[in-house]
Amino acid sequence: MPVHMGIMCERCRKVHFIATSRSIKPIVSMAGMYRLKCTPPCPEVRDFRKDNMRPYRVSEDVFRSGYAKEGEYELVEVAKQPPQGR
Ligand SMILES: [Zn+2]
Repeated sequence: MPVHMGIMCERCRKVHFIATSRSIKPIVSMAGMYRLKCTPPCPEVRDFRKDNMRPYRVSEDVFRSGYAKEGEYELVEVAKQPPQGR
């Protein structure tokens, strides 16, 4: 399955994809910041940086719908830094 960048709503655990979600908008007055307005019935509104997004493995149909519900996505763990030698 393909991997796409998304941001998780911590209230309902839906993952919204930056490329397809209509719930994510850049904040014009704050460079590099985005605002997520989760989909009803979830009332969550959250501001986040691009760095807060994570890669998720999802089916193409789920990705195209804009968000994935819990159980429809799998977080792809990425190593932040190469291991340091001792
Ligand atoms: Zn939510």
